[in-house]
Amino acid sequence: MSSNFKNFFTWVSHPEELVCSILYLLKHSTPDETNIKMKSSGELKKCYQFLESTSRSFATVIQEIHPKLRNAICIYYLVLRGLDTIEDDMGININYKRSLLLDFHTHLYEIGWSFEESSPEEKDAPLLMEFHVVIEEFLKLDRAYQDTISDITKQMGEGMAKYLDKRINTVEDWNEYCHYVAGLVGIGLSKLFYYSGLEDKSFLDSEKISNSMGLYLQKANIIRDVNEDLLDDRRFWPTEIWSKHVNYIRDIILSKQSDKSVHCLNEMCLNTFDHVPDVIEYLSMIRDPSVFNFCAIPQTMAIATISACLNNELVLKENVKIRKGEAIRIMYEANNFNNCLKIFVRYLDTMKAKISKSPEDPSYKLLINKISTLRTNIGARVKYGLFDYIPRSYVAGFIIFLILYLIKSFMFFVIAAHHA
Ligand code: CA
Repeated sequence: MSSNFKNFFTWVSHPEELVCSILYLLKHSTPDETNIKMKSSGELKKCYQFLESTSRSFATVIQEIHPKLRNAICIYYLVLRGLDTIEDDMGININYKRSLLLDFHTHLYEIGWSFEESSPEEKDAPLLMEFHVVIEEFLKLDRAYQDTISDITKQMGEGMAKYLDKRINTVEDWNEYCHYVAGLVGIGLSKLFYYSGLEDKSFLDSEKISNSMGLYLQKANIIRDVNEDLLDDRRFWPTEIWSKHVNYIRDIILSKQSDKSVHCLNEMCLNTFDHVPDVIEYLSMIRDPSVFNFCAIPQTMAIATISACLNNELVLKENVKIRKGEAIRIMYEANNFNNCLKIFVRYLDTMKAKISKSPEDPSYKLLINKISTLRTNIGARVKYGLFDYIPRSYVAGFIIFLILYLIKSFMFFVIAAHHA
């Protein structure tokens, strides 16, 4: 009851999110999902079920991508998820794990291969236990898709193996680790987009900006998940950054002097701004609307996440999430390049306001400079319509008022008719 009450208040205080949620639900009320499952073969159906059980949010975006890409991206995701499950499994001996990571890509061509030695607590263990299903569908993909997926899997496995006993010390290490686990995903996706025929050849030579797409998402998650990761003894924040603020990495979440931890958090956020120009350039290149949505939603969610984390002490204590209504609003709005620019501008403004309260922060000047420069450059590219000059919350409030007014009039009408 109290959570419903809280939800109600959140909606009331953010009417623009309520309106977007209603519009979004109307637009997406008949998902393709059931359709795909009905038409699919047994193995493919199983793959989509795995996709849903491993990532609900990713399953939703993938349903909407162009059919030329849908299965390939689903399999690509499951293959990398399988590899990641091995990387994360703390119950596997390190030397055995290294050979598993290095060899994983070769199993893609081994009909019937599966892996049953995951620790029981690994929640994605069932995927590896029935991995032969993924292999079967992988082998049905076009040759260019297969080669891309196996090549990325090989490189990612090598990178993960390299970092099994290597710490993330410098910012350069951090970029390298994120390249292996996320940047490569972006590089592979660009190739899949090109081979699908939906995007042009420039996607084949876009490694730098494709890499940035992955880095931006990965860094947003690494910043947001710091509490959970450190409690589980995983550390992804580079020593070069945290050692300027605290003596031990765990002080970030345990220290009583949270101002130092927040300064560290803000310096981590500062680093992510370097990727934004590449993200914008990448989004500007996309032609197919379904590819655009597929790429733009995670990137706009990432800036929303970084904005929620910036200068926010709560990140050190719990998993800070963006509001559900805010997430739906982003999914609703991020459907073309101009709207995405507006979302970036909106969060840059929010972040500037948040950091302006902390002039004592050592990164304060750099943050303000970075944000202002991005704000100017991105803002200059936005095309504003007349509607943009009226605050969205006013418009949303007006629509809600109008609906309530119509309901009231209708009820009066019914009552009056009844009495007549
Ligand atoms: Ca991992």
